[in-house]
Formats: sequence, C-alpha cells, structure tokens
Amino acid sequence: MSDKPPPQTPPRQIPTRDQSPDPVIFNPGSVDLYAKREKIQARSISGFFQNIRIITIWATLAVYLLLPWVTWDGRQALLFDLPERKFYIFWWTFLPQDFFFLSWLLILAAFSLFALTVFAGRVYCGYICPQTVWTKIFMIIEHYTEGERNARLRMDKAGLSLEKVLRRGMKHLLWLAVAFITAITFVGYFTPAKTLTHELLHFSLGFWEFFWIAFFTLATYMNAGWMREQVCLFMCPYGRFQSVMIDRDSLIISYDKARGDPRGSRRKETDYKAQGLGDCIDCTLCVQVCPTGIDIRDGLQYECIQCAACIDACDSIMDQMGYARGLVRYTTENILENGGKYKLLRLRLIGYAAVISIMASVFLVALALRVPLEVETIRDRNQLYRETSAGMIENSYLLKIMNKSQKAESYSLRLEAVPEISMRAPATLDIGPGEMITVPVTLSADPGYLKQSKYDITFAVQSRQDEGVHKSSESRFLAPTSR
Ligand code: SF4
Ligand code: SF4
Repeated sequence: MSDKPPPQTPPRQIPTRDQSPDPVIFNPGSVDLYAKREKIQARSISGFFQNIRIITIWATLAVYLLLPWVTWDGRQALLFDLPERKFYIFWWTFLPQDFFFLSWLLILAAFSLFALTVFAGRVYCGYICPQTVWTKIFMIIEHYTEGERNARLRMDKAGLSLEKVLRRGMKHLLWLAVAFITAITFVGYFTPAKTLTHELLHFSLGFWEFFWIAFFTLATYMNAGWMREQVCLFMCPYGRFQSVMIDRDSLIISYDKARGDPRGSRRKETDYKAQGLGDCIDCTLCVQVCPTGIDIRDGLQYECIQCAACIDACDSIMDQMGYARGLVRYTTENILENGGKYKLLRLRLIGYAAVISIMASVFLVALALRVPLEVETIRDRNQLYRETSAGMIENSYLLKIMNKSQKAESYSLRLEAVPEISMRAPATLDIGPGEMITVPVTLSADPGYLKQSKYDITFAVQSRQDEGVHKSSESRFLAPTSR
C-alpha cells in the first residue's frame, strides 16, 4: 500500500476580495460620503435618432396640452372629477365602484412597459417619458438663451455681467412660463379646463386650484430645469429595475468594444489598423452629448436613458472619418458577443405578449358587459319598521340610482316577487347623463298577511329605452316578531 495521502479537493467557496479600508489611509473623520452633483452641460447633436426624438417629444407635448380641450358629448373628454368622484374617459364614465377597470388599465400599462423594455430596453425613457420630454424642452430653451455647450461652460465660469444676468433671467422666465402652462394643463385634467381658464383670467381661482397650480409649476421648474438627470438616477425606480427586465436579446445602446478598441486619436488618412488602433478616435463627443453624463464605452449603465444622442454623435464622427457607422448602436448583448441577428421570438417576449393579450381581452369583454347603471339601497337606520295609524307595517329606504351612460335615461322601479309587500315610489325615474338621484321608497304590508318577521327583498331598476340595461339591489323588510 502507498503511504501517499489522498489528493485534497480544493474547498468549495466563492472567491472574495477583502474590501476593508486600508488601515493606513482610512480616516473616518476625513471621508466625505456626499458627492456633489457635477452640472452637466450636454452638447446638442442632430441626427437620425434625434429627429425621431424631436417628433415623439413634440407629439407627447401636443397630446398633453391639447387633451383637456377635447370635448366629447358636450363635456371634457378626459376628466378626473375628484369632488364628484367621476372619471370621464371619452365615452366611458367610471365611478369609484368601477375601480377595477382603472386598476386593470394601470396593470395593463405596467405590463406593456415591461414588454417594451424586454423588446427595446429603456426606449420609453428616451423618447416619451415626461421627465425626458420636459427636460429636452428646457434644454432647447437653454440652448437658445445661453448658447451652445462651450458658451454655457464659459458663462458658468465667468463673473457677473449684464449679459449673463439678462440671458440667465430670460432662461428662467421662459422655464417658469413653460412650467406654469404645464401646471395649468395638469390641473385641467382634474378641474374642467374651460372653467379653470376662465377663473384664472378673472383672478377667481379657488384655494386648492391655486395651490396645485403653484405646486406643479414649482415641481416642473425644479425637475426639468434643475434636477434633470438626478430624477432618473435617484428618484425613478424604473431605471433600477431595468437590469432584471431586459435579457441578453433586448435592444440596448452599446459601444462595439471589439471594433472600437484600442482607442486613440489619429490623422484621418493614417493606416490606424497598422498602428494597432480600433475605430474609436477617442474624441469623447459621445460623452459630451450625453444628458446623464456617462461614457457609453464603459458598458451598459443604469444611468443610460437610451436617448441615442451618443449614436448620432458617433455616427457623425464615423462619417467624418470615412468609417462605417454603428460603432455605437442599438444592438443586443448576444449579437455583440456572438454575432447573428436580432431575435424577436423569445420566450419572455412571447409570454408578455400572451399575458397582455389576455388582460386586454378581459378588460374589453368586462367593459362591453358593463351595465351603465348603478343602484344602491340604504335602509332607514333610525327605525327597523313603523306601524301606521291604519295598522300597516312600513319600512323606509333611500335608493341611489346612477345613470353611467352618456345620454339621459328613463327608468322604471319595481319590487321583485314578494306579493305581501307593496311599494310606494315614483313610477318613472328620469336621470340625466352621468347623474345620480336619490329616491325615497316606502314598502308597506298588512301584518295579517305577513308570515315571517324578515323578508329578503330586491329592488329592480329597468331602463325604458334599452331592455338590456337593468340592475337590482337587495335589502330587507322587517316586521314585528310576534306573529
Ligand atoms: S449613454 Fe447614450 S443613450 Fe445613454 S443616456 Fe447617454 S447619450 Fe443617451
Ligand atoms: S464618439 Fe465614437 S469615436 Fe468619439 S469617443 Fe465616442 S465612441 Fe469613440
């Protein structure tokens, strides 16, 4: 037998790196954990993707500003009337009881955003997110009042001068004007926009309208003017979730390291390949145009809002150098590593598409089957029953009946299948579109015919114009127990 010890298998453990602070240089008293924000002065750039962005940004802005002025059936098409607790979305009127529909719609929107992220990364952030849209508008104003990036950098460093005060003053005034219009429009989704404008022009705004307009003016001014990318980096959760939503086949904006490295400046006509250089001339234009101040060449970062400014910047350099475009481009991690084409049919994307289709179908079917009528019964809580001088037993109720349709309706009201009990109520109920009425109803019965002290009863409300529109509401009829 051999005396050799059996071979040792190495311990199975995850390799770690000691991250404890260097005892020599670490001095807790001198470490500043607060990193001051570096102001980002992004250079403007034009190009294919920036043209698309301009279209989507102005389209988003136009929809936002114009929607409160669209009327439908004589009222504001999109109105969230909180005091009345009614939400109008074109031909639909939603009540608090219809909360299901609104929450379902929000869940559907969330799933659509997840699917879009799996498909094309943060394309929503880059093209239609309100933070992006308003920041871009504010940047355009900044560009026209203070000049291009270099002029703004010079102005930042320069001392106080009349020109600086005028230019900066004009910029802030325009920012505040845009913020003010944004705020009025936003409040116009909750208070009828025409009424709001009339009150504004006649200085007769209510306290809360004034408060919310002031609040949203300030919020827009701060978010788009001062905080900008900080909102995306530190306040918006979507960017943080990005890495768990995308997969290796999602479209992302990426630098082609294999093609671009090693980077280095060179003359246009030199044989840079012979010098061992890649296609990146290290001009840093892609960094200068980035609104979040990152270097796309460092790889996928959560700060990247996929505005594609670096693509347009790099393409313009590639054109100047006579190289092929696309050193920075929309691609996927899989294509970058293994080549090939974009893979659309992926399990995750198919799964999202299926879920969204099912949810949208459920929503539409539920909406189609929704009866535009609501009935609620409130029993008189002061008295269980009362006896009249004629010896009859009476119970009182209030019926709240809401016409959720867009046209005036006429309804009939009846008590279902309790022959011992008779009802006193108006024969016809006329209710305007989106209105609710309260109807007092009295039920009475001759105690000699009552066989029990408690009857389950049902009020049935039926539209006179449309047979399919009916709703019922249940309650109880109570009588003395000694029978
Ligand atoms: S890295 Fe490129 S796409 Fe991402 S935010 Fe910066 S400029 Fe936009
Ligand atoms: S713009 Fe293009 S060439 Fe210039 S540094 Fe960026 S990646 Fe390199």
